[in-house]
Amino acid sequence: MVWLEAAYTYTSAPMALVVHKYGGTSVADAERIRRVAHRIVGAYAEGNGVVAVVSAMGKQTDDLLALARDVSRHSHPRELDMLLTAGERVTMALVAMAIEDLGVPATSFTGSQAGIITTGKHGQAEIIEIRADRVREGLDQGKVVIVAGFQGVDPDSRDVTTLGRGGSDATAVALAAALEADRCEIFTDVDGVFTADPRVVPNAVKLDEVTFEEMLELASAGAGVLMPRSVEFGRRFKIPIHVRSSFHDGVGTWVKEDTMEQPVVRGVTYTDDEAKVTVYDVPDTPGVAAALFELLAAASVNVDMIVQNVSHEGITDISFTVPTVSIAVAREQAEIVAGKVDAGGVSIDDGIAKVSVVGIGMKTESGIAARMFRLLSEEGINIQMISTSPIRISCVIRGDRVLEAVRALHVGLGLEDEGS
Ligand code: ADP
Ligand code: ASP
Ligand code: MG
Repeated sequence: MVWLEAAYTYTSAPMALVVHKYGGTSVADAERIRRVAHRIVGAYAEGNGVVAVVSAMGKQTDDLLALARDVSRHSHPRELDMLLTAGERVTMALVAMAIEDLGVPATSFTGSQAGIITTGKHGQAEIIEIRADRVREGLDQGKVVIVAGFQGVDPDSRDVTTLGRGGSDATAVALAAALEADRCEIFTDVDGVFTADPRVVPNAVKLDEVTFEEMLELASAGAGVLMPRSVEFGRRFKIPIHVRSSFHDGVGTWVKEDTMEQPVVRGVTYTDDEAKVTVYDVPDTPGVAAALFELLAAASVNVDMIVQNVSHEGITDISFTVPTVSIAVAREQAEIVAGKVDAGGVSIDDGIAKVSVVGIGMKTESGIAARMFRLLSEEGINIQMISTSPIRISCVIRGDRVLEAVRALHVGLGLEDEGS
């Protein structure tokens, strides 16, 4: 160990146990890794037990995916996970080295070593259990523990798995739950959770706080700042999540059970990675929808919105949205059902997008849907499909209008910063 700076004083009993998580941009190069090490050591020097979950450096995961596609056009789920987990493994070792250079003992673990037990579904594995003994041992020995995000191990096959894009967030909050940590700090490249993606709406406002329920809807509807599953863990195990900048010390956004204010609209989000599948001229008889969605479910296609329109007497169209990655499978299954029930055929529209507004106050205040539809109509934007939850309204629209829709809704629903 190199003792370059021994200027920190340590208290014996940890004040709190905190889990930090650093995203790709925050650890993109050597300089940033050293900065992250300073921040971790700062929390440790205050007397906290610190576990830090790290992502692959910069765009490393995208680069590895592109490399795999260059090498092979076939799908190799197990090998792809072997490849992608290497990204986080690089970061964990470098961060541990940078921390030791600051005179603090650190040890790094892969997901498997950290006891992150998952299902066997490569590329989309789910955490089922965390056997955190090695992490606890490290903490008990007074070390900072660094854990590679986004990965785990399937105990049946003993193969490594990945948790899906953005999965380091899930690693961090799940670890915080398993360790009964006091909080989970998600350090990222924006100052917190905003009323809209600040890269799309420059006047978006940082939220001081947001409920788990709202954050789950925001994240599921496209606010990429947190992976939805991480919010689920936070809600289930009551772990407050602090989303904040890794570039300065300012307070970010607290995601928690309850918030002081309950605004009608908390934010606007969008996704553009879904496609609309329509089975048209379907005989309007019982059992057709069941047959269609049973097949889709069996093929693990994640269906989002569903709309059925009676086009004329006894004949309907069934439309639904699926992730663009599932288009081929969805088409195949829809064509099987269309053939069986003598429907007119299947069409795919991959030029759609979904814009959503979310707010806890919608539970008690009505009229937001009408305002949303009016604002879209004033922009000349046609609504193709609508879905709602008690605190969310989503509309499917043409993909090339979605950024305009987000901006118009953000201003029109009064989310703009006052004075701007
Ligand atoms: P990390 O690598 O730290 O995990 P991500 O790229 O996964 O970072 O998430 C941060 C990004 O999320 C931001 O750069 C921002 O563009 C995007 N984002 C989308 N919606 C929101 C929102 N409502 N508030 C904040 N950031 C958002
Ligand atoms: N590196 C992974 C990704 O890019 C996981 C993460 O960053 O959370 O999706
Ligand atoms: Mg992320």
